[in-house]
Amino acid sequence: LEKLHKVDTVVVDKTGTITIGKPTLVDIKNLSDKSDDDFISVLASLEKKSEHPIAHAITGYAESKNIALNPVSAFEGLQGRGIQGSIDGVEYFAGNAKLVKDLNIAFDTKAIEQFTAQGKTPVILATKQKVLGFVMVADEVKAESKQAVADLHKLKIRVVMLTGDDEKAARYIASLVGIDDVVAHVLPQDKLEKIKGLQMEGRVVAMAGDGVNDAPALAQADVGIAMGTGTDVAIESAGITLLHGDISKLVKAIKLSRMTMSGIKQNLFWAFIYNIVGIPLAAGAFYPIFGWLLNPVFAGLAMAFSSVSVVSNSLRIKTKKL
Ligand code: ADP
Ligand code: MG
Repeated sequence: LEKLHKVDTVVVDKTGTITIGKPTLVDIKNLSDKSDDDFISVLASLEKKSEHPIAHAITGYAESKNIALNPVSAFEGLQGRGIQGSIDGVEYFAGNAKLVKDLNIAFDTKAIEQFTAQGKTPVILATKQKVLGFVMVADEVKAESKQAVADLHKLKIRVVMLTGDDEKAARYIASLVGIDDVVAHVLPQDKLEKIKGLQMEGRVVAMAGDGVNDAPALAQADVGIAMGTGTDVAIESAGITLLHGDISKLVKAIKLSRMTMSGIKQNLFWAFIYNIVGIPLAAGAFYPIFGWLLNPVFAGLAMAFSSVSVVSNSLRIKTKKL
């Protein structure tokens, strides 16, 4: 609360912070010789092992279509890119365009651009040799996100979005809520570095996030802000947790911090002025020049009144609308 009033830059994560964080599967492009159900079965079997919100979108879809899943071995998470695992001895990969690029297999990213331009996130399924197809998941922007960004701008705070997601999809979501600064395809450790970089520029940074991958950045920021709907690690690493993940409460927290700090400064001012004048007066310091004296009864009253005025000034914040 003490640091928050100095914040001039707010860094936000996309999934789960600006968006609701409960994506659903909206498109399927099966480019393999498998049936659509088999294609989804492979993808959902892999995603069953993942905790990412994207994974829930895909397994949820498979469940709703009653598509049977298969056991996966040698499962691994590929940081910032996706996942990998084996089914029936075949090694599969599922993730973003960066993953496909790292696999060094042919894939024309133009195929996904018409979707990502609408803010959808691609999950591409591939073997070591070729791309089998992709699905698109989409997440809704939180109702309060746009207003919250506008309010932060009104407070002269710069808002930057950091996400591991696709650049085009990230820019689309950012444009919906009025964020102009976007850094996409960032790995968790890069989120941390980006915060450090901003601090090096002399900025006081608050970071708002919800995921395991946000935790290092939340800890590094001058003020870490977790979504109450987020992961336990994020909440542990942050200084402030917003109930129900309501991002508009961040604006309230900043306003509250600014009011509290200005209240503290006013109180200090009045307390000092009061004593600087009152103590010499009660001690008779002004008697030789002006003939002023203060009856001890009134001096005692004045002392009590000074405390009451400071407390009343502080309580004023309770009546203010944030
Ligand atoms: P973010 O919280 O911004 O999505 P992550 O580092 O968790 O950041 O993920 C970065 C990107 O890696 C995701 O946007 C997605 O494209 C891909 N990814 C991560 N996990 C999975 C998964 N289980 N399935 C498919 N893609 C994934
Ligand atoms: Mg997130």
